[in-house]
Amino acid sequence: MTSNSAAPAPPFLHGRVAMVTGGGSGIGRACALALAGAGATVHVVDRDAEGAKSVAGEAGGRSHVADLADPDAVASLPADVDILINNAGLQHIAPLTEFPPERFELIQRVMVTAPFLLLRRTLPHMYAHRWGRVVNVSSVHGLRASPYKSAYVAAKHALEGLSKVAALEGAPHGVTSNCVSPGYVRTPLVEGQVRDQADVHGITPAQVLTDVLLARSPVKRLLEPEEVAAAVLWLCGPQSASVTGISLPLDGGWTAG
Ligand code: NAD
Repeated sequence: MTSNSAAPAPPFLHGRVAMVTGGGSGIGRACALALAGAGATVHVVDRDAEGAKSVAGEAGGRSHVADLADPDAVASLPADVDILINNAGLQHIAPLTEFPPERFELIQRVMVTAPFLLLRRTLPHMYAHRWGRVVNVSSVHGLRASPYKSAYVAAKHALEGLSKVAALEGAPHGVTSNCVSPGYVRTPLVEGQVRDQADVHGITPAQVLTDVLLARSPVKRLLEPEEVAAAVLWLCGPQSASVTGISLPLDGGWTAG
């Protein structure tokens, strides 16, 4: 006999625990909210205490204030997570001949070493439960170079490699690892760049988008953080269990050229 009063199925990430680095702003915030919306309990990690706290409040999760450049701070983060979203990042723009070495090194620490340390820390839990999802927020700059972004391009290419190794090692344990690789996304960081470039070049913000930032993108629009989060969520969902070791460009066709 069938009943119409059967309880609805729980959301697909019900019972899963996620950690999102750089979750206090932009793409990380959108990922934290999307994962929470799908039922996960979310740890929001950021060096910005206010951002982390506010997003953890929105997501019904927990905030952790940590500077990912500091290995001791990384070692204080939860290890028992099922879903790891390596998202925190920063940019520095300068020609190679003038690039400050300490800035280069910091970018590698936050965007390569911290993801490595977090994988090392969380994979044993995922392996023990025979299920895990790792999504690394890379960039079109994990696949293509631009001048003046040596540290960022080097770090994102390294993250793409690290993600593939995690895919190969994780596969026998039910763990997938993938990258999402966006072009320009409408975050506070990019909106600031648009204003700055408009002032520098004496052109309108709309011209900055089409002629400068999106010059190599056939689709002339910024992505929204929620569009990146939707791809991240899909990579954590039931339809993508066989998708591993990939880089999913969300780049308006940039890498097709
Ligand atoms: P954002 O500046 O809005 O957010 C980045 C977050 O990371 C911030 O909350 C910041 O406090 C945190 N963070 C930075 N350094 C940290 C550290 N040492 N320890 C802890 N937290 C730290 O930027 P976003 O645009 O949302 O970028 C998120 C990710 O997406 C980055 O990895 C970035 O490279 C990538 N990405 C962004 C774009 C874009 O156009 N915005 C495009 C492609 C890839």
